[in-house]
Amino acid sequence: MKIDVQQNVLLKSYNTFRVGGPVRFFATASRWEDMYNLREFAKKQGVPYMVLGGGSNVLFADEGYPGLVILNQMNKIHFQQNTVTTEGGVTWMKLVMMAAEQNLGGISGFCNVPGTIGGAVYGNAGIPDVCMKDVFLNATILPTKSDKPMIVGPDYANFSYRNSYFKQTKDIILSCTMRLEVAPKAFIKQMVNRYIKSRIMKQPAGLTCGSFFKNPGTFPSAGWLIEQAGCKGMMVGGAQISQKHANFFMNTGDATASDIINLALKVHQKVKDKFDVELEPEVQILPRNPFYK
Ligand SMILES: Cc1cc2nc3c(=O)[nH]c(=O)nc-3n(C[C@H](O)[C@H](O)[C@H](O)COP(=O)(O)OP(=O)(O)OC[C@H]3O[C@@H](n4cnc5c(N)ncnc54)[C@H](O)[C@@H]3O)c2cc1C
Repeated sequence: MKIDVQQNVLLKSYNTFRVGGPVRFFATASRWEDMYNLREFAKKQGVPYMVLGGGSNVLFADEGYPGLVILNQMNKIHFQQNTVTTEGGVTWMKLVMMAAEQNLGGISGFCNVPGTIGGAVYGNAGIPDVCMKDVFLNATILPTKSDKPMIVGPDYANFSYRNSYFKQTKDIILSCTMRLEVAPKAFIKQMVNRYIKSRIMKQPAGLTCGSFFKNPGTFPSAGWLIEQAGCKGMMVGGAQISQKHANFFMNTGDATASDIINLALKVHQKVKDKFDVELEPEVQILPRNPFYK
């Protein structure tokens, strides 16, 4: 089977920060076989590979990515009683609204989370009310160390706050089955509207990846620490800390990835100096995370 692999595609078109240089190889996967074949391609070329969903939790360097980026466009959805199995490329709003049409809720809190189900499994995405761990039943993965798809449950996923075992294994998440709750369609739509309004009040619109740092646990939030350290509104080049939410790093239009990384390093140091807290990025910085020595 022929796969269309492009070269030197600019990554800035494929992430919500709208930054990042060229990727060596770029291809789209619409079926499980594509994922398998593309992974084989990367192995043959001797380059690293990664799956990209909505690009709403990645920060690609200005130098780009030296391997293969596989854009996940696997979009099948299958409801069965009070569960749904979706392929990794499905987006949340689409899934939440489709479930609502069948009087199925329990995932409405994800309506505002940009990106795909695959990305949400990888990072245990969520909001204070609900995260992936709460609804996850199992995932079908293409394990890093095997050519055969495998079904894995919560024990394997080992979710914790914005974390999962998939961050270590780098398995490809092909699909995920989640538990839903029966609820009237009208009630779910009301909840969705409420979540959307609350988000508009609290968070800025623009080119961002949402919360840049994880909440450290010991203090109210990463945003609180950043604000108390006097960083709200701080700028490096075209990157700025939002005035509305101090954990939102914004590309004001012409930011480079280096601007955002340098701003984050500066904020990290200020918070460390003031509170002796080492903030940990939630955003995946690729190909190398400068926060991990
Ligand atoms: C405005 C805004 C608001 C946000 N609000 C929230 C929020 O409320 N809660 C929250 O948790 N997050 C939030 N985020 C962050 C982001 O939306 C989530 O982390 C989301 O789950 C990322 O999904 P994605 O498909 O965009 O992942 P990507 O950014 O494409 O990828 C992120 C990581 O997941 C890996 N990955 C993606 N798909 C797969 C797959 N199929 N198999 C294996 N690995 C995969 C990638 O390789 C990468 O390492 C927000 C982001 C923005 C821009």
